[in-house]
Amino acid sequence: MSNIYSYNLDDFESYFESIGDKKFHGKQLFRWLYEKKIKDMDEITDIKKDIVEKIKSDFTFEKIKIIKVEKDKDTRKYLFELVDGEHIEAVLMIHDYGKSVCISSEVGCNMGCKFCESGRRKRVRVLEVYEMVEQILLIEEELGDRISHVVIMGIGEPFDNYDNIVKFIKIINSNFGLAIGARHITVSTCGIVPKIKEFSNLDLQVNLAISLHAPNNEIRDKIMPINKAYPLDVLMPALKEYYSKTNRRLTMEYIMLDGVNDSDLCALELSKLLKGLNCYVNLIPYNETENIQFKRSKMIQISSFYDILKKNDINVTIRREFGGNISAACGQLRSKEELK
Ligand code: SAH
Repeated sequence: MSNIYSYNLDDFESYFESIGDKKFHGKQLFRWLYEKKIKDMDEITDIKKDIVEKIKSDFTFEKIKIIKVEKDKDTRKYLFELVDGEHIEAVLMIHDYGKSVCISSEVGCNMGCKFCESGRRKRVRVLEVYEMVEQILLIEEELGDRISHVVIMGIGEPFDNYDNIVKFIKIINSNFGLAIGARHITVSTCGIVPKIKEFSNLDLQVNLAISLHAPNNEIRDKIMPINKAYPLDVLMPALKEYYSKTNRRLTMEYIMLDGVNDSDLCALELSKLLKGLNCYVNLIPYNETENIQFKRSKMIQISSFYDILKKNDINVTIRREFGGNISAACGQLRSKEELK
């Protein structure tokens, strides 16, 4: 028996058909869960009582719990406890264009990026679909407002939990529910090539961000172990293919690490690497953490790097920083609670 928030609309329609009932109950049930956001199945009024009882016996309804909220001016960090006692985090960012949530996709992470705090704890398990859906539902409830954007950039590697991520996206994207537009959903991956290919075949207009962080294999090998499995000469053609299939512009995330990947030469190399690929580069000032020795690049070097990319006709932005005061910055999620 599994959690009701793990199922999308098609699943509910097939479920009702499989129990010899009307397919349209699927839409009704989905609406109760995501539009009216009921707390109890007995609130359902347009499906017969005995069918509601059957739903109650076929699904579970447990919710993960918010156990801590830290607030800053335009950021809130949520610590969740899962049913098995594990902890994950999500971060809400309040923009002028809406409210976005950065959610976790796994408990721990196996990718082992050297600069990342989340990867200090190995993957314990992937998150179930409902555990991702409920991060959004519970934050909307706490906030008393609608979430307009979702980024899957918290703890974990989403393409290491591919099937659940795709189901999750279908649920939050559905017009009969939370209706978060596909163009407002971003998946970030460290570059698992077979999954990038699979993702390009999905008919979803979701944004894809790649954690690139280096202009060549020599540097990338040193900071991101995944590069040994899928080096740049494999990754880059896959990204070109992704673009030609989907016509969706890619985002390249590039953390600025002092003395590691931030030289003018690196900027030139990066410009060459990205030439001809429709993408934009997001330069991310590194969030230093006490347990890892990397340092953030000097602002003057970030500007110089930015200028070189611009001069070479690469679209580039410098990421606005959120959540530094409450350790809600990238790669710092959960670790303060458990990894001291
Ligand atoms: N595993 C996925 C998504 C989670 S990490 C991925 O690799 O894309 C989300 C982003 O935060 C990645 O680009 C990651 O490299 C970056 N990140 C990790 N630690 C960081 C830190 N301390 N400062 C800035 N960005 C960091």
